[in-house]
Amino acid sequence: MNVHDSEKVVGTLVSEGYSQVETPEEAALVLYNTCSIRDKAEQKVFHRLQQFKKEHGKGKMFGVLGCVAQQEGEKIFERAPHVNLVAGSASYNKLPQMLVQLEAGNRRVTGLSLDTEDTFDTPFARRDNPHRAYITIIEGCDKSCAYCVVPFTRGPERSRTSESVLNEVRQLAQMGYTEIQLLGQNVNSYRDPSPAGWDFARLLREVGRVDGIRRVRFTTSHPRDFVKEIIDAIDENPALCNHVHLPVQSGSSAVLDRMQRLYTRDEYMRRIEWMKAAKRKISITTDIIVGFPGETEADFEQTLRLLEEVDYDSLFSFKYSRRPNTPALALDDQVPEDEKGRRLTILQELQRSIQVRRNSELVGTVEEAMVEGYNKATGQWIGRTSQNRTLNFTHAVHPNPESGEDFAGKYIAVRVTRAGPNSLAGEAIVE
Ligand code: SAM
Ligand code: SF4
Repeated sequence: MNVHDSEKVVGTLVSEGYSQVETPEEAALVLYNTCSIRDKAEQKVFHRLQQFKKEHGKGKMFGVLGCVAQQEGEKIFERAPHVNLVAGSASYNKLPQMLVQLEAGNRRVTGLSLDTEDTFDTPFARRDNPHRAYITIIEGCDKSCAYCVVPFTRGPERSRTSESVLNEVRQLAQMGYTEIQLLGQNVNSYRDPSPAGWDFARLLREVGRVDGIRRVRFTTSHPRDFVKEIIDAIDENPALCNHVHLPVQSGSSAVLDRMQRLYTRDEYMRRIEWMKAAKRKISITTDIIVGFPGETEADFEQTLRLLEEVDYDSLFSFKYSRRPNTPALALDDQVPEDEKGRRLTILQELQRSIQVRRNSELVGTVEEAMVEGYNKATGQWIGRTSQNRTLNFTHAVHPNPESGEDFAGKYIAVRVTRAGPNSLAGEAIVE
């Protein structure tokens, strides 16, 4: 989502007459987009701001965007006095005006209001990838998970109209994009604000029907709002990728309750059963937090058992990180850092073994890979399957800058010959 926010900011500013440069050295204004989901990400921001100052400080202006900007607000000016602009994502619509203020000589400009009903809906996104396009359909979050800063940094939920989403998809298809990734903190909480009133499953179905679109992905889904119609839609249309990222956070209902996640382990498992009962094999991935306050060894064991029960294809796992303003700060019984580290290692080792087994089951099958590039070092093309696995493969044809021969963006059938924990390898089927 942050990558796409940056694409939208760049496109908006370019349409205002600014030009984008390759390196911070060349820039007169450096805008730094930030994440504050965990403390580590936030620390990196201040470290990087200091580096910017040392390396390129003279005569440049600096702006901090994103969640750290929203969270720290004017305090950023105190910690990093060379910063001139601080703006959270709910204020990006006003960025051009803010830059006008900077150019007029104002040295401290802020955009920190969360009081908006608008989405940052710009026709000018500068997309980096010519084949896969991100589209934000819903911004903000109305949930209040006890550990999470997002409701404080991205504000309340705002959905775009289905018409504006579909128009953008159609335009992208005409421009040659074949893969669309629908984005939202809770993408499936989407609710069309226009009279049509579509829910997420309906929007997904319609996006999948747009001519020229061969793959539609969506992230991130919240289990509470995950309805069976989403699986029915995937089952009906092969253009909807058979991959669902459904963050569970913990396998223990007691921990889920303290996290204020709004579902139990059993309710989560019901959604997994829908996916397993689907006609197409759906790849399931998740997010896990270990060491949430009060997480006992028995709670953690339940998370490990959940991993085995669901048989995830991949997961993102994090040590619980205390975040400003969040309700979990008030909870007693913090898990010590080294214990969080121990649990994280055990969890990741278990998941690795699950992935080795699951990936090896695909050896001998034929998968369709969307080509993302070429790895000169290995002589392999880099592809991605509908289930979102990396599939590196050999082909008699190699990229040729002179003839322009390049498979990037093409869809190629590949026979899987080898499997590792994080990727597959294979050979193109040449007819
Ligand atoms: N909205 C999505 C959901 O509810 O599943 C997740 C969005 S959040 C930006 C991405 C992931 O960061 C979460 O799923 C969670 O695993 C992790 N995360 C969020 N806050 C965290 C915290 N305080 N400490 C550790 N991990 C955290
Ligand atoms: Fe954060 Fe929970 Fe909202 Fe996801 S649903 S963004 S974890 S508050």
